[in-house]
Amino acid sequence: MTPVLYLVIPCYNEEQVLPLTSGKFKAKVDELVLAGKISDDSCVMFVNDGSRDTTWDILTSLTEQDKRYAAISLSRNRGHQNALIAGLMEAKKFADITISMDCDGQDDINAITEMVDEYAKGNEIVYGVRNDRKTDTWFKRTTARSYYKFLRGMGVDIIPDHADYRLMSSRVLNALEGYGEVNLFLRGLIPQLGFKQSVVYYSRAEREAGKTHYPLSKMVSLAVDGVTSFSVKPLRIITLLGFIVAFLSFIGIIYVLISVISGYYVDGWASTTSIICFVSGIQMISLGVIGEYIGKIYLETKHRPRYIVSERKNLPEE
Ligand code: UDP
Ligand code: MG
Repeated sequence: MTPVLYLVIPCYNEEQVLPLTSGKFKAKVDELVLAGKISDDSCVMFVNDGSRDTTWDILTSLTEQDKRYAAISLSRNRGHQNALIAGLMEAKKFADITISMDCDGQDDINAITEMVDEYAKGNEIVYGVRNDRKTDTWFKRTTARSYYKFLRGMGVDIIPDHADYRLMSSRVLNALEGYGEVNLFLRGLIPQLGFKQSVVYYSRAEREAGKTHYPLSKMVSLAVDGVTSFSVKPLRIITLLGFIVAFLSFIGIIYVLISVISGYYVDGWASTTSIICFVSGIQMISLGVIGEYIGKIYLETKHRPRYIVSERKNLPEE
């Protein structure tokens, strides 16, 4: 039996890009259905992440025009990762395989065929990995590279140059459902699930229209989530730092004692001030890191839902 494929595509204020890309997604699914690789029940499912522009109107009219399109709408903007999980959990009810991708045309649509072929070979997770970073700015490229290195150093299992373009089977999604964490970083979570996995390379294009929703501030917060959701190493580093500073202070005290005994006095203003600044700086950073974890615990203990689906279009009866 041919598998049912759902493309899961989060959209936030994408009225400029949807008219350009939606037809391409559908054409790809049609092509795979014709080739007999996937079932005719397959579809392109959009997730409207609480857009403020006409995105939802566009999506609604697409679903009215063609049964190949389906859409759900979240009650408000919840961010890319939550929109993704919302779409995946919805698609899981009807699909054998899902492929998550961006709606701006940056993820090469042709890699879908290869991903489906990899699935047919028995792989349950297929990662789309960029084969170059030419379309990125120098800044994004360098920060991304060092961030992957840093994450690995912190013991987080992550696939370099892979974002959220990936195929997952419904078995994998059932396993993923068990991870109820509110601080979601799918890239770090999915490699932990196990299952047979493989990789498909593609080259990432420029955004077809509109602009990115990941300004520096959001990139930084995703980066912090990536570390603090998967690794307690920063807390260990603080402890280590504490020991080092304590050891240095101990040497300092001995030095002071020797100076006093040998009757050698200086004003000592500069050294005292710099020690105070140094130590309080370290304390502030340490408190910040600990605070980051406590904030995470706070959010997790409340067990709030990650998203609320307010509308569904063109989806089968459950
Ligand atoms: N997106 C979303 N909710 C948000 C921000 C972004 O659903 O709050 C979607 C967006 O519509 C796009 C994908 O996530 O399909 C990736 O966003 P974007 O292209 O802006 O990021 P970039 O590719 O520049 O990293
Ligand atoms: Mg993009």
